[in-house]
Amino acid sequence: MQALDNILQDATSAIHSAADLKSLELIRVKYLGKKGELTEYLKTLGQLPASERPAAGQKVNSVKEAIQALIETRSVELNAVQIENQLASESVDITLPGRAQSIGSIHPITKTFEDLRIIFSQMGFSFMEGPEIEDDYYNFTALNVPPLHPARAMQDTFYFNDGLLLRSQMSPVQIHAMKKLSPPLRMVAMGRVYRRDFDLTHTPMFHQMECLMIDEHVSFADLKGLLNQFLTAFFETDVAIRFRPSYFPFTEPSAEVDIGCLSCQGKGCRICKNTGWLEVLGCGMVHPNVLKEVNIDSERYQGFAFGVGIDRLTMLKYGISDLRSLFENDLRFLKQF
Ligand SMILES: [Zn+2]
Repeated sequence: MQALDNILQDATSAIHSAADLKSLELIRVKYLGKKGELTEYLKTLGQLPASERPAAGQKVNSVKEAIQALIETRSVELNAVQIENQLASESVDITLPGRAQSIGSIHPITKTFEDLRIIFSQMGFSFMEGPEIEDDYYNFTALNVPPLHPARAMQDTFYFNDGLLLRSQMSPVQIHAMKKLSPPLRMVAMGRVYRRDFDLTHTPMFHQMECLMIDEHVSFADLKGLLNQFLTAFFETDVAIRFRPSYFPFTEPSAEVDIGCLSCQGKGCRICKNTGWLEVLGCGMVHPNVLKEVNIDSERYQGFAFGVGIDRLTMLKYGISDLRSLFENDLRFLKQF
């Protein structure tokens, strides 16, 4: 009996001094576990004389219940302490300032689209759209590029199996427009075009703008005046312009247009490869064969057309050296605009 009282006394002080739930569990095992002190004591009951067993058994049980009750009480206390500690260590400082939402900016290509739309609307041009999937007739044949014409090799085109293709230029929109509307005509088409090309200055999808004007007495001088006005307005500075004779199947005569280098003002630098000039667009007077194809009287009407890379314009205006960076959607790049 004395031994049992001692066990209860030891257990009571151990339970009271248990610092956390883990050490409390060790105490439970020590006294009440399968090999615990009280369990071991229970096994010795059989050795007692039969008359003493009931009292001894009762005593063991009451000690066991007392220890269980003490552990239960202490466990509730320790749980509360643990929750309090957790709340204290994970506290949120609600006086800290919040994280602001960052404001997005317009993609440089979208900005160029908007700029071009403003410039050409002010000059009286209307904007037209057309499908990105075209057939061979609208993308080539109607533009004076019949089958097997060598000019087809100038544009490495994506073909589908059924004779359809991804438009390689914006010119098909002009054919649709000329077939639907009669002159005089002033139109601009901007959109995505596709060619099989991928390097520092080429991506398989890029953006083009084509401009077409058809009327009586339209001359190359009108084209030059328009380009001058357009390029000056777009680059927001006086730009030098020069024409170089060139060849396109759908215009005659044809020319490529260079502007004086924007970063060295014509002195020669890395960007203009020391020539002082930057190639920006191709243009010319609409070929009479194209007018005939859309039933416009080429004796009465003339027209000019030019095509320009929207991505190229964007790169020149903002000093971007790698075309691909415009399509990678890297926020570190886009946030600069
Ligand atoms: Zn330069």
